[in-house]
Amino acid sequence: ATPAAVIAALGRLAGTGVLIKGGSALERLAGVTAFAFDKTGTLTEGKLELGDVIPLASTAEQLLQAAATAEQRSEHPLARLIVREAAARNLEVAQAEAFQAHPGAGVTATASGTAITVGTRRLIEEQGIALPPEALAALEQLDAAGQTSLVVARNGVVLGVLGARDTLRPEAAQVLADLRALGITPVALLTGDRSAVARAIAEQIPVTEVHAEMLPAQKAEWVASRAPVPAAEGRAEAELSSADTVPSTEGRFSPLSSGRTGSSVAFVGDGINDAPALARAGVGIAIGSGTDVAAEAGDIVMMGAPLAPLPLLVKLSRETVRIIR
Ligand code: ADP
Ligand code: MG
Repeated sequence: ATPAAVIAALGRLAGTGVLIKGGSALERLAGVTAFAFDKTGTLTEGKLELGDVIPLASTAEQLLQAAATAEQRSEHPLARLIVREAAARNLEVAQAEAFQAHPGAGVTATASGTAITVGTRRLIEEQGIALPPEALAALEQLDAAGQTSLVVARNGVVLGVLGARDTLRPEAAQVLADLRALGITPVALLTGDRSAVARAIAEQIPVTEVHAEMLPAQKAEWVASRAPVPAAEGRAEAELSSADTVPSTEGRFSPLSSGRTGSSVAFVGDGINDAPALARAGVGIAIGSGTDVAAEAGDIVMMGAPLAPLPLLVKLSRETVRIIR
């Protein structure tokens, strides 16, 4: 059924820049009991500014130059920041010959015979590169300042550490408070960033849970693990035939009708890194200003004000389902 109620609800969303891909997304949203948010570009503006530049085995310029060389082909907001800053300083950026993005971790590249790594402490260590005590001190300095940190290494040597600052979206606190007032819990922050940065953000908004240093796959697992039922593909046939509807707090949520998992979580994210979590969530909500990949993975895309329509969306979904049933 494509009832008039759905059409009416969609009408009320007109002008908010919300794109709903099919009526079942709205129906599934009515059964959502939890929300999980990505940090960078979702709760924050994603308009990064360069923070502290901490050269260790190079000059500040060499540090930025090496980082920009490796980041040229990354679409990550941190990469765009580094490339922009190098250009602003008229630094010569060599063409990278090999480039690999490590989602939620950083990038590796080679240029003119040198190997460059830019990313998290974990990525650097995974490459077998030792972090000198000064690098660890630099990471602590950036943690204390609430800055996202990037370690830059060239040919196995840590050149230095770069910091980046982001701004919380002004509407984030109110939107989260409104969702909680609608009975949504947990309202979780899931981020690949360090826990100090995650905590600094969490202090300013009414989240109920914070999970830091999560890889994209771990975000997806968290989202899927909150499901009241396992994914349909993973279920025994006996279970499938007996459980054609699944109880939720609303008691009228039928995730099996949608062909997706019964996850009770809506995941809101933007970056290419978030596609797995968007896909595993009961409802994936993509910030439209993010990547096309995220927009494709989302059931709902917010093209206008990125967070503001969320409480209205939840209310409309519940009203719509009440009218249909
Ligand atoms: P978030 O969960 O805040 O959106 P991501 O999962 O995109 O963060 O990234 C997690 C961390 O991985 C970043 O804080 C950064 O340290 C590192 N990282 C990710 N992408 C890049 C990149 N292109 N260059 C350098 N570091 C990166
Ligand atoms: Mg992200």
